[in-house]
Amino acid sequence: MAKKKGGAREYLTLECTECAARNYRTPRRMKDSPKLALKKYCKVCRRHTAHKERKK
Ligand SMILES: [Zn+2]
Repeated sequence: MAKKKGGAREYLTLECTECAARNYRTPRRMKDSPKLALKKYCKVCRRHTAHKERKK
């Protein structure tokens, strides 16, 4: 079965603000949501750090 290709879906990358590792990918949701800093676990820092959205 062929999958529908309805155009590329936009993804945001969540980047650790401390070591700049890109740890998470999330589908883009709200059009004009401000850039958020999210607390996520960074495997490089080995602790929770702020992650910010980054587009390609
Ligand atoms: Zn980090």
